[in-house]
Amino acid sequence: MSALPAPQGVPLAFAPQLMHWQRQHGRRGLPWQHTREPYRVWLSEVMLQQTQVSTVLDYFPRFLARFPTVQALAAASADEVMALWAGLGYYSRARNLHRCAQAVVAEHGGVFPRTPAGLQTLPGIGASTAAAIAAFCFGERVSIVDGNVRRVLSRLLAFDGDLAQTAPQRALWNLAQALLPEQPTPDDMTAYTQGLMDLGATLCTRSRPDCPRCPVQGLCRAQQLNTVAQYPVKTRAVKRRHESWWLLLLQTTAPDRVWLLRRPAPGIWAGLYCPPVFDSEAALLAALPPAGRQALRPQTPVAHSLTHRELRLHPCWLLLDAAEPAPLGLDGAWVQADALHSLGLPAPVRVLLDAAAR
Ligand code: SF4
Repeated sequence: MSALPAPQGVPLAFAPQLMHWQRQHGRRGLPWQHTREPYRVWLSEVMLQQTQVSTVLDYFPRFLARFPTVQALAAASADEVMALWAGLGYYSRARNLHRCAQAVVAEHGGVFPRTPAGLQTLPGIGASTAAAIAAFCFGERVSIVDGNVRRVLSRLLAFDGDLAQTAPQRALWNLAQALLPEQPTPDDMTAYTQGLMDLGATLCTRSRPDCPRCPVQGLCRAQQLNTVAQYPVKTRAVKRRHESWWLLLLQTTAPDRVWLLRRPAPGIWAGLYCPPVFDSEAALLAALPPAGRQALRPQTPVAHSLTHRELRLHPCWLLLDAAEPAPLGLDGAWVQADALHSLGLPAPVRVLLDAAAR
C-alpha cells in the first residue's frame, strides 16, 4: 500500500519515535512474538481480545500443543475446542476460531490470505485482527486500531470524535493510517505494530497513564493541553442487565456423575455444557417431584459478570440414587465425573463442580 500525504496535524515523527522505543524498551519474550507464522499470530490476536496477557500466557501454549497447525484445529471437534477455551470467556471467539480454521483449510488450502481485505472474509477476523496479521506476518502497511490503540491515538491527536459512533471511528482509522511509517520494511511494521500495542498496554493505560516515561510525550496533544483524562471520548455506556439463574446440579455418587446439557446458540455460554438453568426458584422446584424438593440443598449464591450482564447464580444440589431414573422432562444427559475435564464448561460451573469433587 502506498503512503498518502499525512493530513495536517499528524505528527510524522510519531512512527520513528515509536519504533525506536519499541526496539529498545518494548515487551519481549511473549510466546507469540518473533514469528511471522499467521496461525500463531491469529491465535494470539483472538485470545488477546478482551483477555489479559497473563491469562493468555497460560492458554496459548496449551492450545498450540494440542492444535499445532490450522489443519489440526480445523479437524478437531467443537467440544474439544470449547473445552480448551473454557475459562477465557467470550465463547463466540472460540466458535469463530474453529470455523475460521475450517474455512482456511477448505477454501484457502490451509494458507491464510495475505491482505487485510482477504483476511476479513474469514469468520471472526475483524479489521484490527486482519491488520495485525497482515502487518506482523506479511509486512503490510496497515494500522491496527483496537481499543488500546484508539485510546493512545485519541490522546496523541486530542481526537474528540465520539468513538461510540461509526463516522469518528472511521476518521480515527484514517488518521491511524496516516501515522504509519513511510515505506516500512517488514521489520519496521513489526516494531511499529508491536510498539502501538506495548504503549497502550504499559504506559498509555486507561487510568493513570505514565506520560513522563512515554516515548511520544513531546508529540502528544492531550499531554500538552493537560486534557489526557478527557480521551478517548465515548458516550455510550454499556448497559448491564442483572439476572438471577437457578442451577440444578443433579449428582449421583456411585457412579460419580452429574447431569449436564449443552447450552443453545445463540445465547450465554452457547455450546458449553451446563446444569439445567431456571429463571426462578419456583420454576426449579416445579421441575422436581416432591421427594426431590425436600432433598434439594441450595448453596450460597455466586456473582458472575459478563459483558452486558451481571449474573447471580443460585446453585442447588440434588443427590440422586444411581438406580433412580433420569429426571423426567429435563434435557441433557449424565456425564461421568472423570470426563468433565474434556468438556467445555463455563468457568463458574467448573468451580462449582470442582468444589463438589473435593
Ligand atoms: Fe499517552 Fe501520556 Fe504518551 Fe500522551 S504522553 S500518548 S497520554 S502516555
